[in-house]
Amino acid sequence: MTIYHYLIIGNGAAGMSAAEMIRQRDPSGRITIVTNEPYLCYSRPGIAYYIMDQVPESQLITRGDSFYRSHRLKLHFGQVSRLDLEAKLVFLEDGQPLAYDVLLLATGATAVPATFPGAHLEGVLTFDTLDDAKRVVKQGRRAKTAVVVGGGITAMELAEGLRHQGARTLLLQRGDRIWPRLFDEQESAIVESQIRHEGISILYNEEITEVVGKRGKVAGVRLKSGRAIKCQVVAVAIGVRPNIHLVEELAIQKDKGILVNDFLQSSQPSLFAAGDVAQVYDHWTGQHQLDILWPSAINEGRAAGINMVDVAHGKSPSFNYHKGSPFNCALLFGLHLTVIGRVSTKADGDVDQLQYLSRGSSHVWTAPFTTSTRSAWDKDGLNSLRIVMAEGQIVGALLLGNQELADPLRRFIEQEVDLSNYETQLTPANTKLPQTLLQAWRVWNQRWS
Ligand SMILES: Cc1cc2nc3c(=O)[nH]c(=O)nc-3n(C[C@H](O)[C@H](O)[C@H](O)COP(=O)(O)OP(=O)(O)OC[C@H]3O[C@@H](n4cnc5c(N)ncnc54)[C@H](O)[C@@H]3O)c2cc1C
Repeated sequence: MTIYHYLIIGNGAAGMSAAEMIRQRDPSGRITIVTNEPYLCYSRPGIAYYIMDQVPESQLITRGDSFYRSHRLKLHFGQVSRLDLEAKLVFLEDGQPLAYDVLLLATGATAVPATFPGAHLEGVLTFDTLDDAKRVVKQGRRAKTAVVVGGGITAMELAEGLRHQGARTLLLQRGDRIWPRLFDEQESAIVESQIRHEGISILYNEEITEVVGKRGKVAGVRLKSGRAIKCQVVAVAIGVRPNIHLVEELAIQKDKGILVNDFLQSSQPSLFAAGDVAQVYDHWTGQHQLDILWPSAINEGRAAGINMVDVAHGKSPSFNYHKGSPFNCALLFGLHLTVIGRVSTKADGDVDQLQYLSRGSSHVWTAPFTTSTRSAWDKDGLNSLRIVMAEGQIVGALLLGNQELADPLRRFIEQEVDLSNYETQLTPANTKLPQTLLQAWRVWNQRWS
């Protein structure tokens, strides 16, 4: 009997899910996972709770030693530095080669580094890993003042964490309100009031031009306006980039990430990619998209694992991956945010670009959308609900605060439920929009459950 070797680079959500699937389908196969982090598989989203002291390190670990043992997963701590796809070899940093039959790249994504002068100084932080989280806690406790740059979820989480650790915290925003690519003015105002309530200051229309250092450490920043601020920490969250360096020089189809087909297979049949590093086909937009989310990484990893077993056994890949509707939940300064599908800040009838949220300010990917689209909303100053309609269906929703409708809206969007009967009521003029949606939900749920 031939024993196949499955090699997985990356010990995160995608890599681990693939390994689990491979073990289910091929009990005798050899599975090796390589990681350049000194940890067992842990929850990356959980590090945002770790810096708030809400979750200890031990609870972040999602798969313990016994799991690796019982599933016969060989975990190799080391950095992969080169691939030879022709020879089916992976080279570790120390030159050691590892041979494989089928390879999965599940290398994730990394924060875009700052480019301003002084970005190399001790105290300039990004936020990708558990080690980063430990640095945030340590430096946040020591710092009198921290400056955070960036407009997305990660910047908000960093500001919240640094404030929680005791640093006076200042959030710099490029625009004139919070997250203008995603929120409308009232939604920005709701989030802004929560941020200020947490004791975090915000400076709008500002950018760092230079980080000033003293003995190799951050001592302050200079801003575009000419203002100088003394601080000991500068946290940067201006976007993330898929880790594709290993294939940069190789003849593999790539764009922002590694381009894969519906089987998570790259243009080289024995190389698969899943998770943040993969760019998958999105039938919602008709384009290949990055999908920088934890549940997506798990689903892609599982699909890749199944197909890797097929390919190792000389068969065609059998499991068709279908990317779900974009869905993201976050807790920002005690305020729940859910974004489903595609939402736009543009006014009613003026929507030519719909956006959907992934992580960070640069992860609000826009997609051309030509169908005539319109929005309806319900806001009371503390909570906000916005839906985007196209051709009798809800295609996007944004909920801030009250989450009662999050699940119904997700189902409506994912299952492309025809709500044309309600169309005249799903408008901004309807002061009872939530009640109308609940009514539609009850009717639909009764019929289909
Ligand atoms: C602070 C933070 C909060 C988040 N919160 C949420 C959230 O609330 N909801 C949500 O859906 N998503 C969230 N995400 C995104 C989510 O964590 C990612 O989408 C998910 O972890 C991607 O999984 P992955 O397996 O593709 O990559 P990763 O989890 O990034 O794993 C990549 C692995 O590859 C390894 N690796 C990379 N290069 C090499 C190499 N050359 N050699 C060896 N090993 C290598 C790394 O060590 C790591 O083990 C958050 C991310 C961060 C950073």
